[in-house]
Amino acid sequence: MQSTAYILSGSNLGDRMKMLLDAEDLIEKYAGIISAESKVYETAAWGNTNQSSFLNKVIRISTPHSPEALLNILLEAELKLGRIRDEKWGPRTIDLDILYYNNEIIKSAILTIPHPEIGNRRFTLVPLCDIAAEYIHPIVKKNNNELLNQCSDQSEVKLFSQP
Ligand code: ADP
Ligand code: MG
Repeated sequence: MQSTAYILSGSNLGDRMKMLLDAEDLIEKYAGIISAESKVYETAAWGNTNQSSFLNKVIRISTPHSPEALLNILLEAELKLGRIRDEKWGPRTIDLDILYYNNEIIKSAILTIPHPEIGNRRFTLVPLCDIAAEYIHPIVKKNNNELLNQCSDQSEVKLFSQP
């Protein structure tokens, strides 16, 4: 049985665009088929502002894997792409987060779905609305477009065009 998952990818270290594309190759190889992708956006880093800006993108995949198995595949892909986990909110070659998995609500020690920060982050909601504006958040019961309109995050999320 296939499930639908939305994944946010982000990078602010190294060749950021290549990181997003390499992550997609690994996702197609190990996680499932990419059925939609947002445009790429650039956002200044927050939490720790003394670092370079992020590129972000959201993709939709069709996957045979459970949420936990999908998480493990994504963590493995992060490692393959050279991510070193040190400081929280530090620079990262690649971050892969599961935003939604079907309409499921999951809260375990290792996994929270829907991702708890969706409604607070323009850099998540803007690309999400490219491909899933009408998708309804299973807890908040509002669609992503409504979440974006009511989001209090003021950060500028700029369309990124390859330099
Ligand atoms: P963050 O993405 O918050 O900056 P990390 O990428 O370092 O932080 O992730 C830390 C942990 O978050 C992961 O090891 C994973 O177990 C957990 N986690 C919980 N929910 C999710 C989710 N929806 N998607 C990805 N990781 C998640
Ligand atoms: Mg993460």
